[in-house]
Amino acid sequence: MGRARLGALVGLARIPGGPSRPMRPLAAILLALATSACLAPRSSPPRARNVIVVLTDDQGWADLGCLGTPGIVTPSLDRLAREGARWTDFYVAQPVCSASRAALLTGCYPQRIGIAGALGPRSAVGLADGETTLAELCAGRGLATALFGKWHLGDAPAFSPLRHGFQRFQGLPYSHDMWPHHPESPDAWGDLPLLDGERVVAWNADPARYTREFSQQALAWMRGELAAGRPFFLYLAHPLPHVPLAASADFRGRTGAGLYADVLAEIDAGVGALLEELERHDAARDTLVLFTSDNGPWLSYGDHAGSAGILREGKGTTFEGGVRVPCLVRWPGVIPAGRMIRAPAMTIDVLPTVARALGAPLPELPIDGRDLLPLLTGASEESPHPALFFSYGDSALEAVRAGRWKLHFPHGYRTLRGPPGRGGIPGAYDHGARIGLALFDLESDPGEQHDVAAQHPAIVAQLTALADAHRAELGDTLTGIVGRANREPGRP
Ligand code: MG
Repeated sequence: MGRARLGALVGLARIPGGPSRPMRPLAAILLALATSACLAPRSSPPRARNVIVVLTDDQGWADLGCLGTPGIVTPSLDRLAREGARWTDFYVAQPVCSASRAALLTGCYPQRIGIAGALGPRSAVGLADGETTLAELCAGRGLATALFGKWHLGDAPAFSPLRHGFQRFQGLPYSHDMWPHHPESPDAWGDLPLLDGERVVAWNADPARYTREFSQQALAWMRGELAAGRPFFLYLAHPLPHVPLAASADFRGRTGAGLYADVLAEIDAGVGALLEELERHDAARDTLVLFTSDNGPWLSYGDHAGSAGILREGKGTTFEGGVRVPCLVRWPGVIPAGRMIRAPAMTIDVLPTVARALGAPLPELPIDGRDLLPLLTGASEESPHPALFFSYGDSALEAVRAGRWKLHFPHGYRTLRGPPGRGGIPGAYDHGARIGLALFDLESDPGEQHDVAAQHPAIVAQLTALADAHRAELGDTLTGIVGRANREPGRP
């Protein structure tokens, strides 16, 4: 381990004079202390005081300014990438809202805990009481907890975020297109509540409020916790850039690149304000900040959808465009600045990673995620998972990734039938598209265009065996296999 790294770990990045000049006594003592601390990492692992998770909705893998995507302006997210780690191959467990959030908040594949797809209003299921959420894990370590934004793990009072570890909640119980102004099915949904805790404070609120208000509420709450000297877990789950898109007056037209880019710019500004507030309180080095999206872009919305770049398809499919998302993680002094991580990981890993960062115990019930700190710090370059599994809908196991390889099992999927939509009106999907057994080498073919299953039968057999073991544990509706380890969802 180099001296710069040692110094960075204990906040001593700049020792006067540098290594080539005789060291001043104080610097020598400090370096010796740093060295002894790093020689015994198991007895003194780095500890985070605060945790911030910012989740966006339907933001595509390519929708970061630092990737050079035309029109996308995200200076604060780019700053996170510059000052922390950026993942190239980071995934959600299902390419759809509720299942994806269930995985993020519990560390489990959604089928393990009985959450599939996107829950609608008056859902018959929700997050079970027996599951340990990220908020409960943090609260157990004495952190104040709050959610601003979208919950989407059951709208019955029994499933409220306040019953799952969040001490404060302001936001939406489910997606904000589930309302009477839906462009295709206005009669399918009732009025959409905006909640403060379990109290409705508005019905069918203007979506142009959401990004600004949730950012401001999150900032104000965090400022209060910092001023009070309380450690905290902030979960800022923006309902956008999911449709219907809207930006506040300050941001509408800001980028000149369309409403989608304006919305992302407003989300980005909120992240920037959080980072500045951490600095004002000298709390950046105590705070693990993670940014990601719940699934890929909703491509049928055309100019109101994001971009997965070179990746195939988008939200609602287990192709890379549906399940691979941006992921940025900053923890100054622990995660090297500008680190790029290629080893595959998934949102199921967030909970065990936070547990390790806080020194918190893992949930008592089995989970699927793994600690990512070795990857984040650079101690490892290997994925902690032998394989990652992608399911969709009613928990159909559609694909598996191991190393550079991704194997799709025969399944149907949706793809655009004609031109994408415009102005918030979606284009039409063909829901009858199908893919057979197909193997892709994601290193040479990240766009999943060239099936090489015939050339690599041994790889196909290996990935199939991994999938068989996963099916035996958690089930698979494609093959009809019933899992042995699934847990029941909550019921109101
Ligand atoms: Mg989503």
